[in-house]
Amino acid sequence: MSDARILIVGAGIGGLVAALALVQRGFEVEVHEAASVLGEVGAGLTLSRGSQHVFRALGLMDAIAPFACPAAGFAFLHYRTGAVLAGQLDFASGGPDDGQADIGRQIHRADLHRVLAQALTERAPGALHLASRLTGIEETANGVRACFAGGAIATGDALIGADGVRSIARECLFGEQAPRYTGQIAYRFLVGRDAARACMGLGRGGVFLGPGRTFNRYTLRGGDVVNCVGIARHQGWTDDGWSTPADPAEVFDAFAGWHPDVIGLIRQAQSLIKWGLFDRAPMPQWSQGHATLLGDAAHPMLPFLGMGAAMAIEDGMILARAFAAEAGVEPAFARYEASRKQRTALVHAKSVEQGELTQARDPENYDASSAPASDPAIVAYDPVATPI
Ligand SMILES: Cc1cc2nc3c(=O)[nH]c(=O)nc-3n(C[C@H](O)[C@H](O)[C@H](O)COP(=O)(O)OP(=O)(O)OC[C@H]3O[C@@H](n4cnc5c(N)ncnc54)[C@H](O)[C@@H]3O)c2cc1C
Repeated sequence: MSDARILIVGAGIGGLVAALALVQRGFEVEVHEAASVLGEVGAGLTLSRGSQHVFRALGLMDAIAPFACPAAGFAFLHYRTGAVLAGQLDFASGGPDDGQADIGRQIHRADLHRVLAQALTERAPGALHLASRLTGIEETANGVRACFAGGAIATGDALIGADGVRSIARECLFGEQAPRYTGQIAYRFLVGRDAARACMGLGRGGVFLGPGRTFNRYTLRGGDVVNCVGIARHQGWTDDGWSTPADPAEVFDAFAGWHPDVIGLIRQAQSLIKWGLFDRAPMPQWSQGHATLLGDAAHPMLPFLGMGAAMAIEDGMILARAFAAEAGVEPAFARYEASRKQRTALVHAKSVEQGELTQARDPENYDASSAPASDPAIVAYDPVATPI
């Protein structure tokens, strides 16, 4: 089936990984992205140990490593006292390494995204179409037709909907079903290295645990900036997207009485952003005819394990392997779903569990030994070598 032409909707992290893994296996891809420019949006993402095997297999780890911060240690800290509840303080500089050590890494989403988009442009010139917003999907006699805003049409043997948490592809295939607002929002901001220095006495990575709230901070870009994400309960969220501005007073309010490092970082915040946390119950089926879903379009999840991007990266590699292993689109989708549904449902459930543990009333009872974040089966799963 290596002469198949595959349409991918969404040039986010998952869509680009799928495209690169398919191109590596000789497939022709056409990637349609709604945004008209691929700009500097978002902030920090965690790359699980296992998901980085994908970048090694794609020959991209050398390009990614200079932008990634190795996470040698990670600590869970008491929200008021800063006492270490579990894990280890990480006093490394956050400077990049050669990317070979089998450890977690953190990276600015924009840096990872730029490397992936550049690689696709070099390896499949002309494959990436910007300002191309999917509006409809139709089955044809032996393939699929995608319709875009403005009237453009593309045809292919198969379509992959990698268009994120508010997926139109999902709506086209399975009907409208809005993702569920979980009653929590994430406040995100960056602080420059010098401004943050006085607030980093507890190391470069780690999360403060408090009743109903968490505050995570880790360095990005070789230690030049600190990525801060506070998660708090908030009713009645209505905004969309990844760039809603937040009022500093709202963030101070949410973290009043927390450790001086947390308050100090909020005081130094550059451009505070907030977004609502959404998820969905796992879907019984991801594919319909010649189209399937991938990443957040199929299985958005809470960020308490930092595995959302890793799941999209794993999906992309395994879907490409399934295409290479099968002679037809439907068997490839069946193999892909059989390999991914259980794993993503497990990580989805464990993310909920991790959130409940880290936001429990008494952080002193946090038991790292039974927490999903300590489970190597979650973070070390290898989507390149695991048989599918
Ligand atoms: C702009 C942006 C900033 C983000 N920032 C962060 C962050 O700071 N921290 C964090 O943890 N997560 C962030 N995320 C989410 C994170 O990237 C995903 O949760 C994760 O990487 C899963 O990737 P995905 O490929 O499934 O979805 P995404 O990476 O969300 O990619 C989906 C892509 O589909 C495109 N798209 C949407 N609708 C259509 C359509 N109708 N037609 C064509 N294309 C469409 C989107 O523009 C996007 O490029 C961000 C996502 C986006 C889109």
